[in-house]
Amino acid sequence: MLILEQVRAGYGAINVLWDVSLAVAAGSLTTIIGPNGAGKTTLLRAIMGLLPVSHGAITLNGKPLAGMPTWGMAGLSVAMVPEGRMTFRDMSVEENLIMGGFPKAHRAHVARRLEEAYAMFPRLRERRRQLAGSLSGGEAQMLAMARGLMSDPKLLIVDEPSLGLAPLVVNEVFEILARLKDGSRTIILVEQNTQRAVAVADHVYLMQSGKVVLSQAAAEVNLEHLHGLYFAR
Ligand code: ATP
Repeated sequence: MLILEQVRAGYGAINVLWDVSLAVAAGSLTTIIGPNGAGKTTLLRAIMGLLPVSHGAITLNGKPLAGMPTWGMAGLSVAMVPEGRMTFRDMSVEENLIMGGFPKAHRAHVARRLEEAYAMFPRLRERRRQLAGSLSGGEAQMLAMARGLMSDPKLLIVDEPSLGLAPLVVNEVFEILARLKDGSRTIILVEQNTQRAVAVADHVYLMQSGKVVLSQAAAEVNLEHLHGLYFAR
């Protein structure tokens, strides 16, 4: 569904991604893991059109994404759940969700989508009138994921959802990711929690210093080997 071929991108004169190639199969959950500074966020920015690609190509369902403005991505049925959640703190839970459904031609379906979101995240229904800024870290992450789903994206990109969350809440986040993996959407998950990410994924890419150093079916990943590569400098 999403293919990157030999992609180079960075910030001005500083190149960060070095010939990154990856292929994300439709309906799969692909995880991109790697230590701090490996280039994971930079890779997501390149996919989302937030950074120019200086070399190589990115295609979504066979169509090149180069030059596609970020706001055009929603029309391509791509949604991103950013690191740090980025909810609108002074708006209620429900208002945040409605904002997530906004960019799509599906505005008429907002009520149904809200119902689906509340069915998947019952705690958000209980807190629908509460300001997003007063939610716990775990609830805010649920809200960010629910908002990402409001446009019913075919490709959902989730950036470090477990960051800063207590272990029990991390369990909940991964349970939800496992439930979202029902074949009806493609998911890209960027994570530092390698063990959990590999457990939920179909395919694993490990990045190190702006390069892909491992690409493997999750079922074949040897965690010890993976950690060896992960911590290699
Ligand atoms: P983390 O897990 O810490 O978020 P990451 O794998 O997402 O790390 P990136 O944030 O993509 O890594 O950073 C990759 C490299 O790009 C780092 O060396 C970082 O210093 C550099 N970098 C990131 N943002 C910028 C920027 N705005 N300008 C210049 N360099 C940047």
